Amino acid sequence: MSAKIIDGKQVAARCREELKQQVAALRARGIIPGLAVILVGEDPASQVYVRNKHRACEELGIHSEQYTLPADTDRQTLLDLITELNGREEIDGILVQLPLPGHLDEKEILSAIDPAKDVDSFHPQNVGRLVIGDYFFAPCTPSGILTLIDSAGVDLTGKECVVIGRSNIVGKPMALMLLHRNATVTVCHSKTRELPSVTRRADVLISAVGKAGFVTADMVKPGAVVIDVGMNRNQAGKLCGDVDFESVSRVAGYLTPVPGGVGPMTITMLLRSTVLSAQNRRKKQ
Ligand code: NAP
Repeated sequence: MSAKIIDGKQVAARCREELKQQVAALRARGIIPGLAVILVGEDPASQVYVRNKHRACEELGIHSEQYTLPADTDRQTLLDLITELNGREEIDGILVQLPLPGHLDEKEILSAIDPAKDVDSFHPQNVGRLVIGDYFFAPCTPSGILTLIDSAGVDLTGKECVVIGRSNIVGKPMALMLLHRNATVTVCHSKTRELPSVTRRADVLISAVGKAGFVTADMVKPGAVVIDVGMNRNQAGKLCGDVDFESVSRVAGYLTPVPGGVGPMTITMLLRSTVLSAQNRRKKQ
């Protein structure tokens, strides 16, 4: 078998084209969706992510503001900035780029964002809403994954789905969102026993571990949909996922590549949440 490749760049481009039209419709009503991104410190990877987000906003006509604060910024300064942004009508989304420097309490900072502007969906109120299935924003990476699965025409109802990884940003919200789509969901982690025997049951296997070459062909059911969330560097320094692409592509039915799979969808879903927030918050204008 040779897996069909789910092309994340193509799906993301289609989504962004739709969003562009939605932004144009809002602009015609005098509403310009606005996203504020806060970066604390000089982590090079975070700087790249923030730059990419700014560029993506510009392409769609979304107003974007970037706040770059020194690494030793104290909690009150950061909280004051968030409070100011919470109060500004023209800002629809607020994103604090993670990870934060160690002296800042991530939970406290994320909880200070107005839940109605929490486009990353990390505020406890939005996490709770996701649990009960009554949510407006959903975390960007799992949302992007669902969009990729939908693009392949795969119906999740009754499917056996296995998620490897239980982080708050990928694994846990992914499991909940699959459950809301009526899948039968198993979540695996570093203490899971006999992992290959669990993953071999999966009609849909999602790997969010962060280890190159972690998922091998013997862990995959023939014909399965395999989604590779991992972003790693191989020994040659090249960007790669968790999945051993070469061997798994001979067993899986569908497979996402790295790069060009889940990655392009994550920023796209952030843009979508910002547009949704503008539509929702300013519908009375
Ligand atoms: P994380 O917080 O480090 O979580 C990794 C998870 O993998 C943990 O739950 C861990 O289990 C589990 N794990 C580690 N070793 C394992 C093993 N031997 N067997 C089974 N499970 C194991 O990572 P994350 O933030 O979720 O990210 C995961 C990967 O996705 C990273 O490569 C990250 O860069 C990438 N990522 C990509 C995007 C994108 O847009 N493409 C977005 C977010 C993340 P324990 O809980 O037991 O420790």
